Amino acid sequence: MNDTRPASGCEGEDLSPIHVSQEQFRRATTHLKGLKKGLLDFLSYPKRTISVCFPIEMEDESVTTFHGYRVLHNSIMGPGKGGIRYHPCVNEGEVTALALLMTWKCALMRIPFSGAKGGVACDPKQLSQTELRRITRRFISELGDNIGPHTDIPAPDLYTNAQTMAWIFDTYDMMHPGRNNRPVVTGKPLELGGSPGREDATARGCLIAAERFLSLAGMPELGGLDGARVAIQGFGQVGAHAARLFREAGASITAVSDSQGGIASSDGTSLDVTQVLAWKREHGTVVGMPGTQSLTNQGLLELPCDILIPAAMGNQITQENAPRIQARLVVEAANRPVSPEADDILTARGIPLLPDILANAGGVAVSYFEWVQNIENQEWHLDEVNRKLREKMVAATDAVVARWRQLPAAGDSPPSLCTDLRTAALVEAIERVANITLKRGIWP
Ligand code: NAD
Repeated sequence: MNDTRPASGCEGEDLSPIHVSQEQFRRATTHLKGLKKGLLDFLSYPKRTISVCFPIEMEDESVTTFHGYRVLHNSIMGPGKGGIRYHPCVNEGEVTALALLMTWKCALMRIPFSGAKGGVACDPKQLSQTELRRITRRFISELGDNIGPHTDIPAPDLYTNAQTMAWIFDTYDMMHPGRNNRPVVTGKPLELGGSPGREDATARGCLIAAERFLSLAGMPELGGLDGARVAIQGFGQVGAHAARLFREAGASITAVSDSQGGIASSDGTSLDVTQVLAWKREHGTVVGMPGTQSLTNQGLLELPCDILIPAAMGNQITQENAPRIQARLVVEAANRPVSPEADDILTARGIPLLPDILANAGGVAVSYFEWVQNIENQEWHLDEVNRKLREKMVAATDAVVARWRQLPAAGDSPPSLCTDLRTAALVEAIERVANITLKRGIWP
């Protein structure tokens, strides 16, 4: 269910975010031998970790203590950039691992930001809007000048949204009156300087990456999206837009799920995404929609389908269930939904996987466009945003596929494993960051 899910039924698999991040990094760096000694070691650590603890007066006038984190991986490519999540399992290790992931994502997309991430350990489902607003304002004021338009720029993530970003902007603006503070945070509502296209950018990026990959990879059994059967885990900001966009591109959405369970079409045809959205809005879950079959989240992951899109939490596909995945292609809309051991199993079974740092990078790309528009006090047209997003996603997908084709199997991989797309994407990204670091020169 969440990023700290115990490795049930799979003894020995360490699913802690830091371990997964380090293992993915280690696998990629086996292909990066010629770099300056010690450089990769430096790139594996965060530059700055802020941990705060603050009280909030709740609706019932009691006081609750909250713990929040903001990690800046480095500032090699520019200011920090990364979401803020609200979830009971937020901790320093998770936020650190996600900050590193953001650096590789920005490098792959050639975006002039470095990785950062933040979060508050809380259960937003148990909190009122007033409590969430107080938590957001207090957290941002605790971070003080460690965030800013040219230092570290937050964005939405799990269980935070445009409203949360509006509160972040307002808090920072109150603390720094008299200047253009819009670029301090992205994912804002349109009327506060949000970008057209930001809301569905992550899902649209997934779609573009999948389309491009299929056109390049030559999978005989899956030529394109038209008629492809798609199952999506998670029906939030990313998953719901992915369902709509993949459907518009001709795919058949055969199953979707949220934290309460999943639904599948009962006759094998596509779910009506508009109806699922309306049902979810009214009932708070996709479960129970008339004319559908109920299934568990685990059941959704194991359905026969052409494309499986995990768009919810981390650690959903592990060595325990990877042997039962029946998709032809996995597209990681969520961050880190597949463990390293599961990567090996999927690779050995010939199931390609578009990794998070590529597949869900559309969100940070349009966040970057929002930041540029805010600095210039401009508003671009939606068509322009989507065209620029397509260019960035296609270029990044092409670079990953080109690397994938060049790389031999990693030295310590079993001979049956060719290098996976995640490793190829990380090699490309880490090499870019390493080269920029050396071009700048190590201070002093
Ligand atoms: P969200 O909070 O809007 O939605 C999360 C969805 O996942 C909800 O529908 C929730 O019910 C569902 N969910 C939670 N636990 C689940 C479970 N065990 N099984 C099935 N569904 C479950 O979050 P989001 O913004 O859509 O983010 C989803 C994922 O995408 C996260 O991993 C996030 O880090 C990643 N991501 C988001 C963005 C973005 O732009 N929002 C960008 C990049 C990556």
